[in-house]
Amino acid sequence: MTPSPVILPCPRLKAPGAHSNVRPLRIATLSIHSSPLGELGTEDTGGMSVYIRELSRELGRAGHSIDIYTCADSGRQDPRLFLSDNVRLIHLGIGHKGHITKSMLSGHLPEVFHSLEAYITSNDICYDLIHSHYWLSGEVGGLAQNRWYMPHVVMFHTTGIAKRVACSQEREPALRLIAEKRLARKSDRILATTEKEKNLLVKYYKVPGEKIGTVPCGVNLERFRPVEKDLARKELGLQEAGFLVLYVGRFAPVKGLSRLVAAAAHLRSQRRLMFMIVGGDDRQTQAFAELGRLVRRASVGDIVKFQGRVDHDLLPLYYSAADVLVVPSYYESFGLVALESLACGTPVIAARVGAMDTLIRDGKTGLLADSLSPRSLASSIERLMALSSDGGLSVNEIRASVLRYGWSNIASAVTGEYAAALRPCVKSQCRDQ
Ligand code: UDP
Repeated sequence: MTPSPVILPCPRLKAPGAHSNVRPLRIATLSIHSSPLGELGTEDTGGMSVYIRELSRELGRAGHSIDIYTCADSGRQDPRLFLSDNVRLIHLGIGHKGHITKSMLSGHLPEVFHSLEAYITSNDICYDLIHSHYWLSGEVGGLAQNRWYMPHVVMFHTTGIAKRVACSQEREPALRLIAEKRLARKSDRILATTEKEKNLLVKYYKVPGEKIGTVPCGVNLERFRPVEKDLARKELGLQEAGFLVLYVGRFAPVKGLSRLVAAAAHLRSQRRLMFMIVGGDDRQTQAFAELGRLVRRASVGDIVKFQGRVDHDLLPLYYSAADVLVVPSYYESFGLVALESLACGTPVIAARVGAMDTLIRDGKTGLLADSLSPRSLASSIERLMALSSDGGLSVNEIRASVLRYGWSNIASAVTGEYAAALRPCVKSQCRDQ
């Protein structure tokens, strides 16, 4: 039997603002495995959560209405939270108490969809489109797309195939690759954040290029702005740090922290050099223990400092206190930390992963390395030390290079992608009338 679409009256929305070329939309955003309010820098929570929070806020500001659905932290008493104007976070219960990992969720996706459907039916909500983030949400969005005949926009953030190609240490389940390929075929539109990601989707998942829109991630230019270096160091008690090399991010093998530690070993003889590593779950985790072992084996415990997870709001102080941010990753889907660092006026050293070669102007706002072997990473750091003692790169020039990545610009471009996803649907509605 063909399922009948759910057609419910849409509540009125606030008047649209900046993106007024598109009528106010009602959007179901699926962030099933990770909450936009989760602890950034921990295993399952990183750039995607920042992206969803910031994009939703900006779309809400422009008059669109966003409901973000998640199963993370689903044991909440109050299932609904208002995050900002026109933006709600809705927790879907699936009868499981406590933390749900990604691997646990993959076996519960039909239940997640039923919980979503029950919520929207009992609350009389209808949406113009579904925007799914990551393949697990995409699977739920795919069920909704079939059941409600609704345009489905998918954003993978990372793909299994890209991680498999880039980093053999990351074991991606075959189920994920199959699901991503199916989703890529069936969704109405795919949002990629770099041309590189788009090309991978075309090459490995055989997606027609015209179905993919490329819109970069954004940065909150209000939050991430330069703080005078001495002041930032004083605030953080880092007056004695010397040349400060910063890492910010999760502790996944794909992030390449082991080669940063190995690079530190090559630079042990440098005086007044310090590596600060921000992020990671608590110290009891295996990832932390492994890194600790690497640091001890390389005898760099005196110059490598683990700071633990830092609140997003405090990160501008860390970026501003640092002389350079290093992104030693084997793979990035985009690499928000680089954008945040540049917005704070701090140069970035990175391989040509994710968006690095579009974000970094080699020699002007940082250094791009073709290889990030520990030795070449160490020599890039030495080059940057030399540049710094020559007066350094210009903080203002570095910040100016990323001003176009403000979230209002990004939200405008994403709204254009939503319009593209809605177009065929509008045509078929006209035919039906
Ligand atoms: N982050 C944070 N505190 C930490 C570590 C990371 O707020 O202790 C944030 C960081 O500012 C960035 C995000 O987590 O916004 C990481 O995003 P990125 O795209 O760099 O990496 P992902 O985690 O998506 O691979």
